[in-house]
Order: sequence, then structure tokens, then C-alpha cells
Amino acid sequence: GNKPKIVVLGAGYAGMMTTKRLTQQFAPEEVDITLVNKHNYHYQTTWLHEVAAGTIDVNRSRIMISDVINTRRVNFVHDTVVKINKEAKTVQLENSEINYDYLVIGLGFEKATFGIPGMEEHAFSIQSVDKSRMIRDHIEYQFARYRNEKTPDPSMLTIVVGGAGFTGIEFLGELAERIPLLCKKYDIPRQDVKIIDVEAMPTVLPGFDEELLSYAKESLEYRGIEFKLGTMIKEVKADSVIVGEDEEEIKAGTIVWTGGVQANRIVGESGFELTKGKVNVDPTLRAPGHDEVFILGDCAWVMNNETGKPYPPTAQIAIQEADVCAHNIKTMIYGGTLQEFTFDDKGTVASLGGSDAMGTVFDGNKLYGMQAKVMKNVIDDRYLFLLGGPMLVLKKGKFRPF
Ligand code: FAD
Ligand code: NAD
Repeated sequence: GNKPKIVVLGAGYAGMMTTKRLTQQFAPEEVDITLVNKHNYHYQTTWLHEVAAGTIDVNRSRIMISDVINTRRVNFVHDTVVKINKEAKTVQLENSEINYDYLVIGLGFEKATFGIPGMEEHAFSIQSVDKSRMIRDHIEYQFARYRNEKTPDPSMLTIVVGGAGFTGIEFLGELAERIPLLCKKYDIPRQDVKIIDVEAMPTVLPGFDEELLSYAKESLEYRGIEFKLGTMIKEVKADSVIVGEDEEEIKAGTIVWTGGVQANRIVGESGFELTKGKVNVDPTLRAPGHDEVFILGDCAWVMNNETGKPYPPTAQIAIQEADVCAHNIKTMIYGGTLQEFTFDDKGTVASLGGSDAMGTVFDGNKLYGMQAKVMKNVIDDRYLFLLGGPMLVLKKGKFRPF
């Protein structure tokens, strides 16, 4: 028919929340809504460090799309986006091609390797359900292998984590919980296992609150994590990393890269102009020269006019952008004033594994330990509530009666 056709690419935080809001804002006869995703499930990217360490079950981190999106309202296409033809207003998928009047790009991030030799081939990354569970299985395999060799190389049990940003720090926290359990399971003394984080900057969590980052570092060190700060990873080989000015070689059975992220390469390959790997959208979240294309989440470069710096790639921001995007699509169809994105910062809380966490909430109040952990769980459950209501919180939430 002549209904405007809205196509949403990617069922991450940005894509799911935009789709949800669109179904709430429009009646079925007003618009056609299509959601495209390469899996039939949505996953909690913010829990992938737990999947990677093996501290939560894979299925806990994913939600069937049909459980939270009304598939009678939304045409769900289970396929992989290959390219966007913005002039023709079509999207090429692996198995078909679709056209749109309004496009929402929420294809998320991929790891940035900055051209470090060997990184692409030899390091794991915490990037998707599939990639994260490889890490869990690989670590466990190294433990099993260690038990079966006559003269096992101790470096088999060394885990090197590259980068101590939030992803690296949260992953180390989960490893600190998981490794002692694996040691018990495979009868291996804890001191045989080495967990070494290599960070280029002189501190962990560069730029974050000094008291909080010291707290995180000490908490992890207390549980046996070693840090090599001010040390850059120069090269990665099949079973080692080369670090620092003196090109020290650290042998390791598992190498996990958490050194940075960039926008999904599809946006650049589709001809959108990039600023540091992302699309510099206008304050209404539309691509330059293409008013019908909205770009959200980790694919978008959105300027914070107060600080003069772009917003960081976070789930919190992706979710808030979805509201503005859905509102603006409605405005473009029916008229009115377009909304500009402003970020309502609710704070940053990072888990440190087990019952430990730290972060800032509201106006910079600092939280540590159990209190911070409870806040982290509240944040996770709030998102599940927004997406799927109380039933989803009961099924997948961090506070469950069972
Ligand atoms: P994503 O969540 O990456 O979703 C993109 C979606 O697109 C995925 O479902 C993917 O399957 C799909 N897709 C990708 N390519 C294609 C294709 N070619 N075709 C079809 N579908 C495709 N942020 C916070 O605010 N708080 C946190 O506590 C936090 N913790 C984090 C912990 C970890 C371990 C990591 C890695 C990140 C964390 N972040 C956190 C950052 C946050 O996860 C990202 O900013 C957020 O996921 C970005 O959302 P998005 O919707 O842009 O993309
Ligand atoms: P990041 O870019 O924030 O951190 C990468 C770290 O790797 C940096 O500290 C950097 O100095 C280091 N690094 C880069 N190259 C290196 C090299 N060659 N050798 C050694 N170290 C190197 O990436 P991230 O941690 O994946 O975070 C991505 C985004 O996701 C951020 O916006 C972050 O805030 C967000 N996130 C938030 C949370 C949370 O709120 N709890 C958790 C995870 C991620």
C-alpha cells in the first residue's frame, strides 16, 4: 500500500527500543515497520563479559525477538545486512533486498584493532554471543589440555587481556570469579594460572574518577590479577603478545582484546562519510544529506555541545537515542518540531565480578562494593523492564525469585 515504510537495521539496544517505540506511537494502519537482524534473538551486549568468562549461561544473555516484539505489527526479517544503497533507498541483505522510506541504522560496534599485527587472527574479542562463548570454551579447553600433557607448558594457563577500559575491567572481574572454579574442577592450583592485563595508558580506566579506578584495580589485584600499565601491545602471535618499548614477549594460551571499538564497517562501506569511524549525525540523529536515514548507537558520532566532545558508545545512550528517533520519524510523517538529542546521564557503574562493583550515579555520587552491585543490577533490570515489562525481568533479570 501507500503506508510509509520504516526499516530498522540491527536488533541491539538502539534497534530494539526504536522498534518498540514505533509500535507504541503508530497504529498498525499508519506505517509498515520492518526489523532486520542477523540472529532471531536480541542479546545483552552489556553482559557479554559474563558470557565470555562463563559466569552466566549463554541463554541468560539472549532474548528471542518474537518474545518482546509483536511480530504481527513488525515484519521481522532474520537476515544479514550486506550494504545500504542510500541513493536508491534499498538495503541489500544476504538473501533478499528491501526498500524503505525511513531507515534506522543500529548495527552496533565491532572491535577496533588499530592495525596491530596479528590482532585480527590471534586474539579473541567480546563482541557477540557467538564470539564471547568461544572465549569461555577456549579457556576451559586450555585447562583440560593442561591436565593431559606429560610436561605441560605453564603458559597454557596464562590469560592476557589487552586494554583496561570498562570492557577489560569488567571481564577481569568475571575471570577472578570463574578461574578458581575451573581450578577446582581440573585440580589445578590457582597459582599456576596467570591473568595479566596490558594497558597502554598509565592507569586503568583512563579518564575515569581516580578514586574509583584505584578501587577497581586494588579489588582485582587482591584477587590475583596482574596489571602491566603504560605498556602498549605491539603485536600478537599465535601463542604470545609482544609488549612495551623493550618488546617483551608474554607467552599466553588465551589472548582477549578489549582495546577499543569502532562502528560496524557496513556504514562506511555504504558510503556514509565517517568521522573517526562513525557517522557524524545532526542533533536530530539524521545522516548528513539524508534526512530519511537515522543512525543510532555505536554507529553514530553525536556531539555533546556542552563538552565539545562526542558521546561515548554506550547502551545507555543508544536507548535514549531510540526515543528521539521514533519521535522524529513520527514528526517527519505528520509534521511538527523535530527533537534534538540531549543525554540524561544516569551515571556509570561497572561490575568487578562476584559481589563487587563501583561507579558513579546521579550527580557524581560514588558507590562501591555491594551497594554498587545492587545499583548495577537495578540498571540491568530497568532495561529489561522497558523492553519486555515485568515478565521479562522475572525471566532474565538479575533479581529473580529463583
Ligand atoms: P549493539 O548492541 O552492538 O547491537 C547491534 C545489533 O546489530 C546486534 O544485535 C547484531 O547482531 C546486529 N547486527 C550486526 N551486524 C549486522 C548485520 N550485518 N546484519 C544484521 N544484523 C546485524 N554500555 C553501557 O551503557 N553500560 C554498560 O554497562 C555496558 N557494558 C558493556 C559491557 C561489555 C562487555 C561491552 C562489550 C559493552 C558494554 N557497553 C555498556 C557498551 C554497549 O554494549 C554498547 O554501546 C551498545 O551495545 C551499543 O548498542 P547498539 O544498539 O548500537 O549496538
Ligand atoms: P575503550 O576504548 O573504552 O578502552 C580500551 C582500552 O584499551 C583503553 O584504556 C586503551 O588505552 C587501551 N588500549 C588501546 N590500544 C592498546 C594497546 N595497543 N595496548 C594496550 N592497551 C591498549 O573500550 P571498551 O572498554 O571496550 O569500551 C567501549 C565502550 O563501551 C566505552 O564507551 C565504554 O564506556 C562502554 N562500556 C561501558 C561499560 C559500563 O558502563 N559498565 C562496560 C563496558 C563498556
